[in-house]
Amino acid sequence: MQARNYLTALVLGKCPRCREGNIFTYPVNRIGKFNVMNKTCPHCGVRLEPEPGFYQGAMYVGYGFTVAFLVFISAILYLLGDFSEWVYIGVTIGVLILFAPLNYRWSRIVYLHLFGGIKYNPRLSQPK
Ligand SMILES: [Zn+2]
Repeated sequence: MQARNYLTALVLGKCPRCREGNIFTYPVNRIGKFNVMNKTCPHCGVRLEPEPGFYQGAMYVGYGFTVAFLVFISAILYLLGDFSEWVYIGVTIGVLILFAPLNYRWSRIVYLHLFGGIKYNPRLSQPK
């Protein structure tokens, strides 16, 4: 079986070392538990929180996602028609609240992959 590539592992929330184990315990649609993370990778056992307070830096990644999202939504609204500023404010706030769980998860996933210091090991990527 072909190993998962880096971008697919990022989008699916897979462990940076094996790209097989899930970083988060529950799927994103479990609204009460979308933020629960595994302490270690269920596939290869690597610690998914390299140090205490590690994920505080993920706030900056989440901020970047939020700004990019705001620009994207505003550009789409601008192209669709001539709306009042309250339509822009309402739609962007609504969409941001709707996508907050995804933003939370992807900011942590991207932060772990970029700054977690965990290197990909292809030998660990074989399914058990
Ligand atoms: Zn793993």
